[in-house]
Amino acid sequence: MNVVFILVDALRADHLGCYGYGRKTSPNIDALAAGSTVFETAIAHASFTYPSMKSIFTSTYSACDNLGAILNEVQFDYKTMAECFKEQGYATAAVIGNLVLTREFIKECISKDATGFDKGFDVYDDALQEREPTERGEMTRSAESIAKSAIQLIRRNAGGNFFLFLHFMDCHAPYVPPKRFHEMFLKDKHFDGSARIEISGINFGNGKIPNYAALGKETRVGYYVAAYDGAIRYVDACVGNILGELKRLGIDGNTMVILMSDHGEAMGEHNIYFTHGLGLYEGTIRVPLIIYHPEFKAKRVKPIVRLVDLMPTILDVNGIAVPQQARGKSVLPLIDGSAERICNEAFSAINAVQGFKRFETMLYSVREQRWKLIQRESIKKGSFWKELAGKVPAVWRKIREFGFSRAIRETGKQAKWMFATEGQPGIELYDLENDPDELSNLAESELEETERLHAKLEKWKQEISFKNKGEQLEEVPDKSKEVIRRRLKSLGYI
Ligand SMILES: [Zn+2]
Repeated sequence: MNVVFILVDALRADHLGCYGYGRKTSPNIDALAAGSTVFETAIAHASFTYPSMKSIFTSTYSACDNLGAILNEVQFDYKTMAECFKEQGYATAAVIGNLVLTREFIKECISKDATGFDKGFDVYDDALQEREPTERGEMTRSAESIAKSAIQLIRRNAGGNFFLFLHFMDCHAPYVPPKRFHEMFLKDKHFDGSARIEISGINFGNGKIPNYAALGKETRVGYYVAAYDGAIRYVDACVGNILGELKRLGIDGNTMVILMSDHGEAMGEHNIYFTHGLGLYEGTIRVPLIIYHPEFKAKRVKPIVRLVDLMPTILDVNGIAVPQQARGKSVLPLIDGSAERICNEAFSAINAVQGFKRFETMLYSVREQRWKLIQRESIKKGSFWKELAGKVPAVWRKIREFGFSRAIRETGKQAKWMFATEGQPGIELYDLENDPDELSNLAESELEETERLHAKLEKWKQEISFKNKGEQLEEVPDKSKEVIRRRLKSLGYI
């Protein structure tokens, strides 16, 4: 069985037709979904690329500790999904559109000996081009170019088993698909040009359009949403070409196809615009996950699955042993209908710098089917900057305007990091069943749930040994509501 693994960077689940979106953004993906297992609650481990990719490719959480989430942990200590397939004699190939996954970036940012996402691939096509329309020199690769390379690789390997990974970047800001797609939704019935927000001037999406997402002087929120949707439709067309090629070659009945994203994209929820990595709200951690396998019937799965489950799943389906390191579980029982659920909750984490004050924040969340708790925690000041100093080589200049890792300004060797979440350290609790948009923080009124989920989160953090644990709640014997409330309050959580 071949595997074609399609990852569309920054693709929200709820902007696809098969996840209920009003615009026709995804006819080809919807057709794929109609014959696949569609996971309605797939949760990313992080809302930006590195740690999420690592969790997908190695089924581990360790990339989320402080600096590691940004630079160090891209070096793999673990076996990757590609390596597992290679060991079984599969031809392995990847076509990459994201700069941070390229060998050049990893070698320049980490060290010449560092291994990165290319580990385990026979062919790692990571040649990028400048993204033209914005003329800002962002290095990326168009969906068309990725599909072209993918089709050549499929043709070349059609005679044997192959594992092909494709990373599309067009839904990542700036949203500049070809003109036809860019304009596709600008005048439709869903278009609303009434709301406007300023362009930030820097790469910061809190309440404003981050510079790297800005399209000329355009300030209409609806324009950006339409452009994002156009980018989805563009990727969808290219995905359609790849799936069509599998059919033409007569190997679609022998090929498993996975389509998913590493994280979503904020479209203004919680005042965060056209970026990701600033929070752990649903728009950025709930992602599409569609698994097509010719031997299994189409179905929709509502219970939570996690992106750390992906590697065990793909290996399991293909009869390959799952490495010891794996933190996730195979969701094959949900695909073949032998089980109803495989886990009760998903944990996510991200590190952030708050505002411009070098106030470092760690965000964690635990999401169950109904309840979700987000914790903001300050982490030791200073260590982040100390570790970062000296690790900002020339390659950052290439992404300065891209806003990828929010290295905005450089003063000598020190980059200034500005990705952030607003507000003080604290806890948010949402009832997703009754409040799917996470508008009403119930942390104070639902103290038992808050305490229960908080304890779950702390336990998980200890289990996976985060390097920066931040402040821990001390043990108190009396768990009455008042005590819990005081404990949380004393730590600034509520
Ligand atoms: Zn990403």
